[in-house]
Amino acid sequence: MSLLLSDVTLTYPDGDGRLTALDAVGLSVPSGTLTAVIGPSGSGKSSLLAVAATLVLPDAGRVIVGGQDTSQLTAAQRSTLRRDRIGIVFQQPNLLPSLSCIEQLLVMVHLAGRPPRAHRARALELLDAVGLAGQAHRRPHQLSGGQRQRVNIARALMNEPSVLLVDEPTSALDHESGRAVLDLLVRLTRERETATVMVTHDRTHLERMDATVTMDDGRLTGAVAA
Ligand code: ADP
Ligand code: MG
Repeated sequence: MSLLLSDVTLTYPDGDGRLTALDAVGLSVPSGTLTAVIGPSGSGKSSLLAVAATLVLPDAGRVIVGGQDTSQLTAAQRSTLRRDRIGIVFQQPNLLPSLSCIEQLLVMVHLAGRPPRAHRARALELLDAVGLAGQAHRRPHQLSGGQRQRVNIARALMNEPSVLLVDEPTSALDHESGRAVLDLLVRLTRERETATVMVTHDRTHLERMDATVTMDDGRLTGAVAA
């Protein structure tokens, strides 16, 4: 299922006026492909992901997930869509310190109201897919930064999302771990046919992308097909 943003405008309150974080942004991401978003700090990249995730409603324009216009949904329906269809990986792996790797993944199933027990096999398979076979019972403090980010990615995939949104996943990692996380995101996008959007500041990542777009002061410019 694809992700489509059409003429999306987002403003934030700013003193007496409004700051335009997204200015009539359009973006189309087919399933099974990866689009990179680059651009300077403050240009609107994280705002773009927040709107695509339906965490923030735009002032105008549409966010369409798998053909479903999310502006037509109630808040409760949007929250269900987010849980079932959208995987989000934030810059810092916000793992729960007291939980093991497998428990971090099973929490997602629990939040979806499904019995975690039936999903252990899937959680183990995902940990395996991100290169953490045999690490399922480790807690975050027993993992490296790269391993924590890989748990974060596995967790985002736990509910089999169609859209995967990733904000600077490698910024806290050394070059080699960053490379491994990028390889993983490319492979998972193909295998699981997610429509993936990744914010990155690392230009060495761009050759691996299907498309690269640039945010500049709220505007999406220079769409480049790889
Ligand atoms: P980027 O991720 O490219 O650094 P952001 O999307 O975080 O950019 O921010 C875009 C602009 O919107 C910036 O000027 C930022 O200060 C502003 N902004 C971001 N989030 C908020 C918010 N919650 N309230 C007010 N302004 C915000
Ligand atoms: Mg940001």
